[in-house]
Amino acid sequence: MDIAIIGGGAAAVGLLDTLATTGRAHGSVTVFEPSPGLWRGRPYGPDLDSVLVNAPPAIMSIRHGDAGHYAAWLGARGDAHLDERLGQPLVPRAVYGEYLEHTAEKAAAELRERGWRVEVVAAPVVGVARSGGRLVLRTGGGDEHAADQVALCVGGGHPHDHYGLEGAPGFVGDPYPLARTLEGVPPESDVVVIGTGLTAVDVVVSLAARGHTGRIGMVSRTGMLPHVWQRPEFHQPRHVTAERVRALPDLQGEVTLAGLAGLLRAELADAGEDLDALLADLRAARTEDPVRRLRRQIAEIDAPGIGRRVLQQTSHTVGPFAWRLLADRDRDRLRAEFRTATSLASPMVPVNAVRLLELFDSGRLRVVRGVTGIERGAGGFRVDADGAQTADLVINAVNPPPHAVPRAAASLVASLAAEGLAAFHPAGGVVPADPRLHVVGDLAGDGPFITSGIPGVAAQGAMASRAILAPVR
Ligand SMILES: Cc1cc2nc3c(=O)[nH]c(=O)nc-3n(C[C@H](O)[C@H](O)[C@H](O)COP(=O)(O)OP(=O)(O)OC[C@H]3O[C@@H](n4cnc5c(N)ncnc54)[C@H](O)[C@@H]3O)c2cc1C
Repeated sequence: MDIAIIGGGAAAVGLLDTLATTGRAHGSVTVFEPSPGLWRGRPYGPDLDSVLVNAPPAIMSIRHGDAGHYAAWLGARGDAHLDERLGQPLVPRAVYGEYLEHTAEKAAAELRERGWRVEVVAAPVVGVARSGGRLVLRTGGGDEHAADQVALCVGGGHPHDHYGLEGAPGFVGDPYPLARTLEGVPPESDVVVIGTGLTAVDVVVSLAARGHTGRIGMVSRTGMLPHVWQRPEFHQPRHVTAERVRALPDLQGEVTLAGLAGLLRAELADAGEDLDALLADLRAARTEDPVRRLRRQIAEIDAPGIGRRVLQQTSHTVGPFAWRLLADRDRDRLRAEFRTATSLASPMVPVNAVRLLELFDSGRLRVVRGVTGIERGAGGFRVDADGAQTADLVINAVNPPPHAVPRAAASLVASLAAEGLAAFHPAGGVVPADPRLHVVGDLAGDGPFITSGIPGVAAQGAMASRAILAPVR
């Protein structure tokens, strides 16, 4: 069997690792990756040391079903990167990239030992066509490669240019790698960062780490910052589980938000906690002063209580499963809460939260809400928001919407749709329309409404690997 993997990021590593641990068949694997960041994808290439992974080791394992895999690789390397408040090592993302490289190369070596051919082609795939019972991939260089099974692992989109600033002097459209994009930023300049999510946090802490002394504004419509990680506490959910979600249709006719909230209410009640208090706190995220909320959350890093911890953990474990069963009207209700859900499900690490608070307290950083426009004028940028602002430089740190098609895969995805191999999903992304095609990562159109982290990508990679091998078992 000839397997083609298009894209060589974390999703491809998860897939390859499962192939190596379960693949009894023989054949070939060809990975197509045009960028120099083979196995690291968009997030985990070389960058500043201030660009950290945003989750503790237990949820950064690329081996689905083995939560200790990354921690075991990290070993004593983690000692130099301990986040004191979290009590866990948080390494620069480039170091995590070494783990992905190591895992992929080990998997490739194991497959070769068992007789597989494993090759990397440093070119993009721009189209796929059916030909004589096989799928033929066309690369950007015009070469053709035939395959029996194709996995699409092309990642997510790039920051959208909401204010049409592309090409304006002083505008950075895509912030990564920050080692390059921040290089020319004068330390005393007035900088506006578009966005208040995790990418914006990366930009602000990296500016600070480079000794920036000018003012920094984080601007967005909501002004909502990510929540702050709490120190992990072991809790094995008894109610918010896949089994209990699967049983909901028999008990209640369908899976609804009310049904899921009932499971969470029971989970919290067992621990003597009140779901209504947690929900009230989440609703307040829209209106509460972001700096006051940040200060409060930093104070709660070590606080006991399972509420936010369980909701955050299960949003990545049970959440994707529940999402697929959820009634359409409730999916729309959740989509309307996208900002709050993302800020809860993907919190910022304490070391960054503390740094941000220091910058707020020093008066050098501010959050500007209600931005309606940004224009480039003669002397710099003008930000239309609650109270007009000006800036010398604008850095775009808007997160792309989930299921966005990456620019580098636009012609490929169009060709898959035109060949009838994939179909666009009404909520974004694509779904396979042929059993030989597998979509792994954020492009998967039937996936959850929040962007996947490593656990989601690893689970999808493992699932795709099993589906690929299924016909020859
Ligand atoms: C900046 C950033 C930081 C993140 N940090 C974390 C974190 O700390 N923890 C966490 O859990 N999650 C994090 N995430 C979530 C992230 O989605 C996953 O961690 C993971 O990187 C996704 O892997 P992927 O392989 O799907 O996509 P990517 O890593 O983006 O890899 C996709 C690859 O496909 C290639 N490609 C695209 N088009 C083509 C084509 N036409 N032909 C061939 N190749 C192509 C690209 O060059 C790229 O290398 C982060 C995401 C971003 C964007």
